[in-house]
Amino acid sequence: MRKKAIFVWPQEPYLPTSLFKHYAYLGESAAHARKFGDVDLIDLSVQRVHKSDMRSRFRDADFVFVPVEAYAARSAVKLAELAKQSGNAKTLAYGSAPSMNPNLFRRYFDIVIGTGHWEKVFEMLMEDPASLQDHSREGIVSDLGHLDGKLWPHPPLDMLPMDEYLRISPGQLEINVQKGCFYNCSFCAEKSLVPENGTYMRDPYNLIAFIKANPGFDFYIDATTFTQDRGWAKEVCERLSSLDKPIRWKTVTRVDQLDNEIIGLMRSSGCYKIGFGVETMAGRLQQKIRKNVSADSIEEGVNLLNRHGITPRAFLILGIPGQTARDVRETKSYLDSLETEQRWKEYVPFERIPSMSDIEQFAEFERNTHKFHHIPGLSKEEYVSLLETKR
Ligand code: SF4
Repeated sequence: MRKKAIFVWPQEPYLPTSLFKHYAYLGESAAHARKFGDVDLIDLSVQRVHKSDMRSRFRDADFVFVPVEAYAARSAVKLAELAKQSGNAKTLAYGSAPSMNPNLFRRYFDIVIGTGHWEKVFEMLMEDPASLQDHSREGIVSDLGHLDGKLWPHPPLDMLPMDEYLRISPGQLEINVQKGCFYNCSFCAEKSLVPENGTYMRDPYNLIAFIKANPGFDFYIDATTFTQDRGWAKEVCERLSSLDKPIRWKTVTRVDQLDNEIIGLMRSSGCYKIGFGVETMAGRLQQKIRKNVSADSIEEGVNLLNRHGITPRAFLILGIPGQTARDVRETKSYLDSLETEQRWKEYVPFERIPSMSDIEQFAEFERNTHKFHHIPGLSKEEYVSLLETKR
């Protein structure tokens, strides 16, 4: 008999500003599971659902799959409790937070995906749940291999709450094309999801198929570092350039992984904006977070992007331990001098997650307020105005 699964993104107090994980972790996962059974999907960050409706959908399911990010960990646990009260569905947690502390999440969920590629787990559970036993230890699954880039599912627009998503990002669809990263920045969760020193890419033809099927949209082609595999990045650009109807797209890479040739190819295939992590210009902080980007490479990258007509966008962090007001202001005025678009975000202390012993400790990650990390000399007004810089 076909298994039934429901994917549920936990509730959050405010609407999300970034939809990447909603398209990829929730949507693409559900699309893959749907190849092997019946799948339902709810995104509680944008949808309101009556508790009675949730209960009956949980009751109908064999599995409840919950992507868990640190900022929604406590509401994910409440969902697991509701699922258990409602019926006999097995609950499963996956995502960044469980990968960093699988034992803690195992207290609340029947199955937890530690490291590795979760699509394989959904596939096994939907087809033959007993087969997962060989790959799990006390309910924690790890290292199940990776999905062939040709088989990566597309975001399932028929299942996702697209009206709500398009209100948040008008005219734009997102698709994930890369997992893993050769770098190891201390503040980034990617290494806990894909610990090996490698990257996995969506097959360029698979990407083009999604784009062709959805005319009239701009695309956020989500990558860890788009130009990390140069051959693949060039092939994607060539395929995009040969589309009958040109598209507009944006992505993310490292500024030290850009050069005149690749930027030219990206531009001619419709790329209009590239985000890259700077985080901070203070050398001692760059060492600390293992993200070293020199002023020379930033200046060179920004100038090249501007010359090709692509908007550069710098990602920056507020609240790195040891950061001072002077560090923040010097970083800002340097990027202002390059006239670069800036997106400041609060530092997330992921390093604390592996040693957490109580789910309530995740309250500190919730996005209920600005955290006002202690940055000596920086006023609350300055802190908030940086975070509210137009995104
Ligand atoms: S380069 Fe980007 S994706 Fe890679 S580890 Fe650093 S922040 Fe994460």
